[in-house]
Amino acid sequence: MDPITPPRSSSSSLSWSSWSSPPSVLSHKQQVRVAVIGAGLSGLALGQLLQNAPNVQVTVYEKSLGLDSLSGYRIMVSHFVLRRLHASLSKDIWRKIALSIGISPKDGHELTFMKSSGQEMFSFDAEEMKDSSSVSRWLLRNALLHKSGRFVKFGKTFERFEKLPNGVVNVFFEDGRVEECDLLVGADGVGSKVRNQLLPNSRVSDSDVAVIYFKIPLTPDTKILLPAPSAVMAFMLNNQNIMVHSWVNPRKPWATKFDDYEIAPEDSFIMFGYGSPVGDFLNKEKPPGKFSPEELKEECIARIRLVPNADPRFIALAEKCLINTAYVHVVRDCQAVKRWDTSSITLIGDAVFNISTMLGKGANCAMLDALDLAERLRISDPIMPATRQYELQTCAAENVKRRLRERQRSGLIESLVYFGDNKLQEFCRKQGLKRALGWIDDPHAKDFHSNKQSAV
Ligand SMILES: Cc1cc2nc3c(=O)[nH]c(=O)nc-3n(C[C@H](O)[C@H](O)[C@H](O)COP(=O)(O)OP(=O)(O)OC[C@H]3O[C@@H](n4cnc5c(N)ncnc54)[C@H](O)[C@@H]3O)c2cc1C
Repeated sequence: MDPITPPRSSSSSLSWSSWSSPPSVLSHKQQVRVAVIGAGLSGLALGQLLQNAPNVQVTVYEKSLGLDSLSGYRIMVSHFVLRRLHASLSKDIWRKIALSIGISPKDGHELTFMKSSGQEMFSFDAEEMKDSSSVSRWLLRNALLHKSGRFVKFGKTFERFEKLPNGVVNVFFEDGRVEECDLLVGADGVGSKVRNQLLPNSRVSDSDVAVIYFKIPLTPDTKILLPAPSAVMAFMLNNQNIMVHSWVNPRKPWATKFDDYEIAPEDSFIMFGYGSPVGDFLNKEKPPGKFSPEELKEECIARIRLVPNADPRFIALAEKCLINTAYVHVVRDCQAVKRWDTSSITLIGDAVFNISTMLGKGANCAMLDALDLAERLRISDPIMPATRQYELQTCAAENVKRRLRERQRSGLIESLVYFGDNKLQEFCRKQGLKRALGWIDDPHAKDFHSNKQSAV
């Protein structure tokens, strides 16, 4: 897809021009006051989509003071989601988002599974992989932050809410301030405090798997170390795996602004991920979340070196990881929630429940949640809360359905990836993965990322 020009088709029922209405001139009584907690991808997208809606007054509250530590990585975003963003956001924001979309390999993206020796096992080259792009999360979030001063308040940590009998919600912040709204949206990620209060029985627990991510500058020297043109997942001995994927800046394919520690956020990079059960880490002095960046890099290099016949490219890549780009993702398991009372509080993004990063669907779902919710809020009548509640309930049900399916698909792949590595387990994983990938590419399944039955 050419990201700059308008898409040929979009399943969004509204065109961009119909969304870009002038700023609100309605009185407060005719507007729904929406308070969004969290300026991650879902909260920011919702804020941007609603900021010009005449019937909505939106404010996004974010606890951090700016960019988060995860902003540096790449995410795979489906073209369907990108087309919907294109159709719904203003032109200047879309132009910035377009710059976050990396160059795709000639034949589109695919995921190649490999042995530790670098021998290819098979490739997952389903339509959903080909129909997606590698996107710089940093540039995407920056684009969504464009002119957000009008509706985002940073340094505001949500504490709790109180629902009043008249339907109004009081929102309490750690700084002692209280804000009033008609609809509270929890977009505060996997550890959501909004969800914790709304659904006190929903549980979040740390799994025993941790993935260490680093950036490597993409240069002619590092490109030759890439084991495949697109994404790679290599199964190493000792129950570890390596993920390699790159983001290529369309305006500047080679990185130039980096040293041994840092890289400029807009420079092209290779994302290097190293995952394993925490119990298998060599450094057992502390949990991985407490390792220094140097210790994280040492752990990766030391463990790959222990693998007999490891492809030397994996060791070379690990050695080129830039120290200060280290990020540890301890996989968290958030109980799936099925429904909640949406009359004045709802949830979007990872705050509903998270999805394993294995198939890269969390951000896609988060942005679809925001697009759907914005679409429904824009057509809802501020003085008829009953119709709004119906719209919100329908939206939440779709959101949960989409997430449950993606969670099931990603979870299946994750369990096979960390299946173990004796000969029998290796055999079962190979057979199981092939079947599982066939199942997740089922042509009869509903594809929530293209709004149609998925193509064969
Ligand atoms: C390494 C990695 C790779 C990934 N790759 C992909 C991929 O390829 N494709 C894909 O689709 N997804 C991917 N994901 C998942 C994706 O990043 C997430 O699903 C997505 O970012 C969730 O967005 P969100 O807005 O729901 O939550 P978040 O991005 O977590 O944002 C929540 C925001 O809420 C704020 N907040 C939290 N608590 C409070 C509070 N009390 N008060 C105020 N603010 C608060 C936080 O500071 C944060 O800014 C990946 C995730 C990781 C970790």
